[in-house]
Amino acid sequence: MGQEIKKFVEMPLIPLRGLSVFPYMVLHFDVGRDRSIKALEEAMIKDQKIFLTTQMDIDVDLPEEGDFYNIGTICKIKQMLKLPGDAIRVLVEGLSRAKIEEILTEEPYFKASIQVFDEEDDKDKETEALMRACVNAFERYISVSNRVSPDIMVSVSTIEQPGRFADTLASHMVLKTEQKQHIIEAVTPKERLEVIYEMLLSEIEILEVEKDINDKVRGQINQLQKEYYLREQLKVIREELGEDHSGDNEIDEMKGALKKIKASKKVKEKVEKEIDRLSKMSPSSAESNVIRTYVNTILEMPWNKHTKDTLDLTKARTILDEDHHGLKSVKERVLEYLAIRELTKSMKGPIICLVGPPGVGKTSIAKSIARSLNRNFVRMSLGGVRDEAEIRGHRRTYIGAIPGRIINGIKEGGTKNPVFLFDEIDKLASDFRGDPASALLEVLDPEQNKEFTDHYLEVPFDLSKVLFVTTANSLGTIPRPLLDRMEVIRISGYTEEEKLQIAKKYLVPKQLKEHGLTTENLQLSDATLRAITNQYTSEAGVRELERQIASVCRKAATRIVEEKVTSVRFNTTNLNKALGIARYRHDVIHEENQVGMVTGLAWTAVGGVTLSIEVTPMKGKGQLVLTGQMGNVMKESARAGISYIRSISENFEMPEDFHEKQDIHIHIPEGAIPKDGPSAGITMATAVLSALTGIPVNREVAMTGEITLRGRVLPIGGLKEKALAAKRAGIKKILFPFDNVKDLEDIDDKVRKSMEFVPVKTMDEVLEHALVKPKKKPRRKSTKKEVK
Ligand code: ADP
Repeated sequence: MGQEIKKFVEMPLIPLRGLSVFPYMVLHFDVGRDRSIKALEEAMIKDQKIFLTTQMDIDVDLPEEGDFYNIGTICKIKQMLKLPGDAIRVLVEGLSRAKIEEILTEEPYFKASIQVFDEEDDKDKETEALMRACVNAFERYISVSNRVSPDIMVSVSTIEQPGRFADTLASHMVLKTEQKQHIIEAVTPKERLEVIYEMLLSEIEILEVEKDINDKVRGQINQLQKEYYLREQLKVIREELGEDHSGDNEIDEMKGALKKIKASKKVKEKVEKEIDRLSKMSPSSAESNVIRTYVNTILEMPWNKHTKDTLDLTKARTILDEDHHGLKSVKERVLEYLAIRELTKSMKGPIICLVGPPGVGKTSIAKSIARSLNRNFVRMSLGGVRDEAEIRGHRRTYIGAIPGRIINGIKEGGTKNPVFLFDEIDKLASDFRGDPASALLEVLDPEQNKEFTDHYLEVPFDLSKVLFVTTANSLGTIPRPLLDRMEVIRISGYTEEEKLQIAKKYLVPKQLKEHGLTTENLQLSDATLRAITNQYTSEAGVRELERQIASVCRKAATRIVEEKVTSVRFNTTNLNKALGIARYRHDVIHEENQVGMVTGLAWTAVGGVTLSIEVTPMKGKGQLVLTGQMGNVMKESARAGISYIRSISENFEMPEDFHEKQDIHIHIPEGAIPKDGPSAGITMATAVLSALTGIPVNREVAMTGEITLRGRVLPIGGLKEKALAAKRAGIKKILFPFDNVKDLEDIDDKVRKSMEFVPVKTMDEVLEHALVKPKKKPRRKSTKKEVK
């Protein structure tokens, strides 16, 4: 749109600092600079018109030509007011845009020749559309900016002339000097509308983001203020009700307790931080409860408490003897271990692992170790522990998180140097929830356990003063790296005689005391105790025996109270009144020699047991049927036995084609108990041979040994335990692999003398001793051929 240049005029000029004037705008400002005042005076003398333009740099005091913008606004001075000092306040109204053509003078004031731009008021469609868009944008601008009064909208929207409209909008917007100048320099109305529209949109965007941020911040502050306010109110209410400030006391107490504990600086700082957090929270909030429990757990740990070791080997020996009958070699090993620890003054040695069937006194030995060292005793069962978190704890971010069982045990134990028993380390499991064995390894490693960090506790606790002891039923399932750190001490099980002594000296007095009875109230003769052992228990240890004695005590106590008697006596004949019918017949050997039935010996986690193996051949197709919960190794060993028998079948009178026309059924009664391992090999082979030939087996013989295809007998484990089981069963002769002869010396003298131990190298020897009348019939194939 063409702007006609109409005229040049001469006029005084004032450069403004940080201000811009648009046409139609009314504005007042103060003038202090000498030159500017002189310009004002000159204007007042003439037609009160003055050219106002903006200084580029606000800091320049005496601007020269080029320090201010060329385009500005011609204004009319409406009012002048002298201020105290030399300054003058002026009120001006913008008239029209103009451009400096030439600066005529600089002194005593700026005078310039100015070219005035006049504006047309017509508008085309495009301008109209732009104006509408600007109205809408301006409306939004007002709504997001809280610096523009909404009333302005009304006056702005009534303006028809595009140029004036644009200038009025601009004068109400909050803009930077450069932006304002940009508008002033937009000489045509259309151009000006475009610039303004763009600025409006960008400002709206910025303001919206700003508003968002403000809202958020304000929201947060409000919430905090609200909480603070409510808490203060709560305090006042509590005071009014006469309730004490338990929260404050608690914080003080915690801080006091924290000062007393002997923990590292790091730990103290961490706990202090938590206490501070707690003090800022409402005492009843869920989070503060979590922190409270956490801080208390840490404060309750025995950071400073420990018992003083009093190791005196004579005393230790007395204590071990006091608490346990027999177990001579075990006690020696324990004493040696303690002596070495005392000498090296270090916990770095291996860790004792007491291995043996249940009820043989493993826990009780560990307790005696604690007693002889004057240490507290903590026991943790690892049976079925499969989650690493059970050992190391859950992180506090979990709801209901608690420390692991080790830290808990130490806390309950009350000292930092207890004897800590890991029971059933062989029952440790592992699955997707992590590997508890590796966590345990860290706990047991003296290099690492000084700084043991429980996930819940988050701060390290020193476990290096703890004496760890472990127990297991068998070594097979203990993870190798753990086993490597341990010194294994085996406890194998007791003979009947030993059980009798343990019962007499320990179990009976203990149970009498627990049931409030005296030896006058209840008398149990040796014969009765033997009967309890043999008919009501079948175990390597004495746990069940102790339970049965407890039952007898309960029965006696009831009768004493009910029948008002002072003394009760149970003997072998009336024992069933207290314990019910006998559960085991220990004299298990058969009344007569049987065909296809052999007594084998097995070694299980609960000690040695006798197995009666039965074989029946039936008409069939040469299949092998195996029942009685046999494991795979055992089944294979049965097959090997059969193959061996086929290879020697000519030597015996038996159906030659038994492997084609007969099914052989091997069964081991007591099917509920799983059995596995190769050590029943010779037993199964003997039973099959007896069944096929009809030769009975000596009922007083029991056997154990692995068999090869060629009939060699290979060594087995657990001879000592098996011998005990055989003795319990009334066996007179044990056939065992020749390679196990070295194990004989471990066997109790009494047991060894009570039975005949026959080492065997081949199946021939086994059959020699086991079959009642070994009818050997030389029927070699070669001879047969010759006869034919
Ligand atoms: P384990 O830990 O091996 O399963 P425990 O230590 O719990 O066995 O023993 C079971 C019970 O038998 C305990 O009351 C224990 O005192 C007792 N006991 C075991 N062996 C002996 C022993 N040699 N002398 C005295 N008491 C024993």
